[in-house]
Amino acid sequence: ATPMSIIAGVGRAAEFGVLVRDADALQRASSLTTLVFDKTGTLTEGKPQVTEVVTFGNYEAARAVAQAAALEQGSNHPLAQAIVAYASNHRLPETEQFRTLSGYGVSGTIDAIPLLLGNRALMEQHQIDVRAADETIMRMAQHGATPVLLAADGQLAALFAIRDPLRQESVSALKRLHNLGYRLLMLTGDNEVTARAIAQEAGLDEVIAGVLPEGKAQAIKQLQQQGQQVAMIGDGINDAPALAQADVGIALGSGSDVAIETAAITLMRHDLTAVADALSIAKATLRNMK
Ligand code: ADP
Ligand code: MG
Repeated sequence: ATPMSIIAGVGRAAEFGVLVRDADALQRASSLTTLVFDKTGTLTEGKPQVTEVVTFGNYEAARAVAQAAALEQGSNHPLAQAIVAYASNHRLPETEQFRTLSGYGVSGTIDAIPLLLGNRALMEQHQIDVRAADETIMRMAQHGATPVLLAADGQLAALFAIRDPLRQESVSALKRLHNLGYRLLMLTGDNEVTARAIAQEAGLDEVIAGVLPEGKAQAIKQLQQQGQQVAMIGDGINDAPALAQADVGIALGSGSDVAIETAAITLMRHDLTAVADALSIAKATLRNMK
């Protein structure tokens, strides 16, 4: 009877738009303790927007916007798309020596002036003095926006606030998962203050922030070493190693092909309530077998 009920469970999950790779995946999904969520595009809509631009030392706002967008044209990060969209009515200058600095931002040269665009850690690596922006950075982050800094020729030039609102169903979906007894965590490369503001709004227990892409799988491993059975829920290419490391990787169906190939469970609906559906079915199926 046991293999039959597993097959029934996999079939029932499919009715809810949840693809379970195999019997083993369903079994592991029935005994999880901890759910780890990627932030961008998983808890949030993944369509961030620029909500504020502040400049420093008489730097012209239009110039800062055009330069930032010119740099970000070379990046496929969601933050980059926000800046490019914001500059849609600007003429963008030519960029040379463009580089993507994974987990930090981008750099390049425009009109022979070296530019850096990204987070505070990037500015610190290059000894840019960001004290003039400190208060504004803090205010933006406490409101759940991600601060992105522009430095030109070694000087702080501008600060962008970029907001990525929570997905509409995140709060209710996470409440349901809480009621099922899981510990809920957020894992993100974003800064800690922004991450905490969003985690609080969403109703998550804990935040692991400021994690570099290659550190995400390691963060999952640490939770496992503490004896937790961990699912990772994500959509990005960045997340594939963490999805693989987790006891159960759960990919959002609209995510990258790599994420879907790696995951034990794929949600065909881009909807976090499908996570609760999937785990409830796994639990019910395995309970019936005992
Ligand atoms: P996540 O996918 O969790 O947001 P990333 O590792 O992609 O994390 O990025 C971490 C942080 O690095 C971002 O929150 C942002 O501050 C900065 N960053 C990365 N890429 C860019 C970019 N193209 N433009 C501006 N900032 C960036
Ligand atoms: Mg990501």
